[in-house]
Amino acid sequence: MTPSGGADPDSEFAFELSVCQWAERAWSPADDAAVLVARQFGTKHRRWDTIVLECDPDGLRERATFGADPFDSDLLHVLQNAPADWTYYRDALPDPGYPWRYVRESIHEAADRDAIETRKRGNRIEIRRVRPYPDWLRRVIAIENKPDLNASAARNLVPQLQRDIALSLADEVWVATAATDERVEPILLADLPAAAGVLTVDPEQATAEAVWQPRSLSVDEPGTRILDRPDDDTSAARFEYVDTGWKRERRLAIAERAYARGWRAYADTMRPDCRHFQLTADETGVYPYCAAKDCLPTAAECRGQCPSYEPEPPAWRSMEWPLDGGPGNAIQRVLERRRRRQRPGLSE
Ligand code: SF4
Repeated sequence: MTPSGGADPDSEFAFELSVCQWAERAWSPADDAAVLVARQFGTKHRRWDTIVLECDPDGLRERATFGADPFDSDLLHVLQNAPADWTYYRDALPDPGYPWRYVRESIHEAADRDAIETRKRGNRIEIRRVRPYPDWLRRVIAIENKPDLNASAARNLVPQLQRDIALSLADEVWVATAATDERVEPILLADLPAAAGVLTVDPEQATAEAVWQPRSLSVDEPGTRILDRPDDDTSAARFEYVDTGWKRERRLAIAERAYARGWRAYADTMRPDCRHFQLTADETGVYPYCAAKDCLPTAAECRGQCPSYEPEPPAWRSMEWPLDGGPGNAIQRVLERRRRRQRPGLSE
């Protein structure tokens, strides 16, 4: 069976799920890193299709002791600087560069999540860490999925890749495309930046081959954000520098969200409560399947507005149904269990 279960083979969504399944199973970092995969993450300016996080295995386990929910940049600022002994928060935390009242909000939120401890001494809030926030993230790999990389798609992709490489927020940037029967893969003839790696993916077999190795990008050095790159040769490009502190903070904030959501969160925006929604499994992985349309539905079409949408009959959710809460809830639980399996140390 194709991973798309009969879907349009050019469906970017089906292809993206194949890449995520493959990366989760077969991505092999050079060291003993643990691997987490997520999709559709990035910054305000750039969203990557697939990201692979290479993580320190012990750090990942320690990260789990803080729970499954993500910490945003403001919370991370508190967590990473929380002292071992009771200290007035303004003495413990570096000046955030924004009003302290926002820091106080983050402190209370972190305490509510049992990530730090707080106490009042007179009018002063003192903080103390519960445990050190671990250094769990090693590398970030960004993959752009283009199942059908024709000439115009390649042309559109080049500026994006140039921006990614100039900014160097990810350690590696790849393009994944469907393998062809050609002697030389057409993608290798496209004029892509040499620093970007190329993966050819066979969704039928759930395999991928690295046909061009990427360059490791300088994530610990300042990056360049290209704001405007005119097509003609006479106008100057506009760009701005991005400091390493911003990059470090963004990488970890992205990793935190990726940790929480993974790539199976697609069901959150689809309709597993539709009576036609199913999960199908084969040797390549588990995929959503629409029995009404006999295909892998895209997240865009599998919505309440779908003309074929039919809610689960109420009886399916009652005690008469063998699965607690009906099949829609059961599907969500299956995906959640599989997501947690990749995050050692999280309680069920
Ligand atoms: S909402 Fe539409 S696409 Fe999604 S499972 Fe139901 S019928 Fe299929």
